[in-house]
This record gives sequence, structure tokens and C-alpha cells, in this order.
Amino acid sequence: MQCIFCKIIKKEIPADFISETDTFVIFKDIEPAAPIHYLIVPKEHIQSIAHLEGNHKEILASLIYGARDEAKKIGLKGYKLVFNVGREGGQVVDHLHLHLLGGWQNDGDIDHRKIPL
Ligand code: 5GP
Ligand code: ZN
Repeated sequence: MQCIFCKIIKKEIPADFISETDTFVIFKDIEPAAPIHYLIVPKEHIQSIAHLEGNHKEILASLIYGARDEAKKIGLKGYKLVFNVGREGGQVVDHLHLHLLGGWQNDGDIDHRKIPL
């Protein structure tokens, strides 16, 4: 079994875990692209958004709600939620994950909030 996120979920390799439910885990991105950069990752191995099937609707919704709830819990007023899909879309790890990015200051400089991921 080669999938790095499946290994993290099974605690076979370490990660900085933030939370865990029956459906997903949240851990810190190893190479943060923002002051706060978490990954919300379903426990079921699904390759990407392009590989979702009919019975995955609840899982997908749980990732978005999980990100929203975590953002609220840590007091983020604004944030980004990003799914990269396929190599052309910047996806490197072939296990569905939602990026939660935030923690910038609302200091009038919006450029640093427009980073592509
Ligand atoms: P993608 O480009 O596939 O949307 O995002 C994959 C993300 O996973 C990247 O932001 C990368 O930094 C992160 N990542 C890759 N390998 C590991 C790892 O072993 N541990 C953690 N915590 N993050 C990882
Ligand atoms: Zn996997």
C-alpha cells in the first residue's frame, strides 16, 4: 500500500493531527503555504474530486463542514478551501484532500491572499 495519506490515517507515519472523526482526519500540511494550512482528508481512499461516485456525497459534505467547523474553532475570520484535481490542477497526492488556508491579517494588502496553491 503506497498511499502516503492512507499511511498517515493509519498512524503508520507521523503527522501533526488536529482532529479526527469517523469520516475524516485533519492534520497540518508539512509544507505550509499560509500561516494556517490544514488538510482535511477522508478516511476512505478516493483518488480525487474527479473520482467521486454517487455514494460519496456525504463524505464530500463532511470535509467542507469539517473545514468550516475547524476554521471557526480556531477563530479564522476568512480562509480558503481548495481542492486540487489532477496533475494539471496541481494535485500531487492522489488521495482526496481539502486544503484549509488562512491566518493572514486583514491589513489592506490582499496580494498575499491570492497565492495559487
Ligand atoms: P496537493 O498538491 O496534492 O493538492 O497537496 C498535497 C499536500 O500534501 C501538499 O501541500 C504537501 O505539502 C502535503 N504533503 C505531502 N506529503 C505530506 C506528508 O507526508 N505529510 C504532511 N503532513 N503533508 C504532506
Ligand atoms: Zn489513500
